[in-house]
Amino acid sequence: MDRVGITTTVPLEPFLASGKQAVDLNNSFIGSASPNELVEEAQVKGYPRNICTWIKGLDTASSLVDGVVGVVRGDCSNTESLLETLHREGMPVHPFSYPFNRDRKDLVAEIEELCGFLGTTIDESSEMADETRSMRDLALEVDEIGWKTGSISAQDVHISLVSSSDLGGDPSLWERSVRSLIENSSGKEGMIRGPRLGFIGVPPIISNLFPRIEGLGAKVVFFETQRQFAMPKRTGNWIDDYLEYTYPYDIGGRVDDIKRECGRRKIDGIVHYVQSFCHRQIDDIIFRKELGLPILTLEGNLPGPLDERNLIRLEAFLDVLEGGL
Ligand code: SF4
Repeated sequence: MDRVGITTTVPLEPFLASGKQAVDLNNSFIGSASPNELVEEAQVKGYPRNICTWIKGLDTASSLVDGVVGVVRGDCSNTESLLETLHREGMPVHPFSYPFNRDRKDLVAEIEELCGFLGTTIDESSEMADETRSMRDLALEVDEIGWKTGSISAQDVHISLVSSSDLGGDPSLWERSVRSLIENSSGKEGMIRGPRLGFIGVPPIISNLFPRIEGLGAKVVFFETQRQFAMPKRTGNWIDDYLEYTYPYDIGGRVDDIKRECGRRKIDGIVHYVQSFCHRQIDDIIFRKELGLPILTLEGNLPGPLDERNLIRLEAFLDVLEGGL
């Protein structure tokens, strides 16, 4: 097993310690030349039309790896069935759970089992903690520069953060490309004009969402989930960083993080991206009640550019926000 797929962010240190290459299947799927063909392939295999597209893309993308670690608690209720399907086809799989109670002992036990699957130990993994932290700090630096100066585009900030889950599958290459983004931004005049938006929810399947938003004269200055992939709470202990990671635990932690960052980044409105057929759409009820900011809920299904209907809704939302500025 050299290349091991992951279905979302999991502790990366055991991968680096074991010498196995972590491959975020979401990024492989959406970054492929024809993501829609991967979806079609999963549907030909038997995946129902009314199941989230990301899951179908993950299934087909897993043909490029030798094993899969899937998060079955704290991310997606479909991942368990995905792992079962792959396992029955002969793929080595490992279910990883972020403990519901956010208990440190339970998390350590999960990480130890992950280490066992990858052929390493938690002590060896600890030795990779500084390197992992420094990589994630680079992604967070891109985020800071992006929202403070506007000299890095929303798309580049999004990619830097979202790819911190697997460091692009090649940590050295990833580090070079993120460092070059940072270096190129220095001294550059940024453009922050129009409404300042926060983006919350699962990463979008819409390929050109951020460039389109910027083309309409707004700036995305907060990427909730993508930023969480880079473990923004630096606790000084790598295991505790995963306890402070808000996404897999109770929604209260997410609400607190979103409110804090929206205040710090002076956000005027929020785009809540939801994926068709995703259970996390239900979170919208809580966000609308508790965030205290105008929210546009934008739904995507298949990979591809922003469609006309969502474009019109986005334009109308920005008009409303601009009226209040
Ligand atoms: S978008 Fe929702 S249903 Fe789809 S993979 Fe992510 S969590 Fe699961």
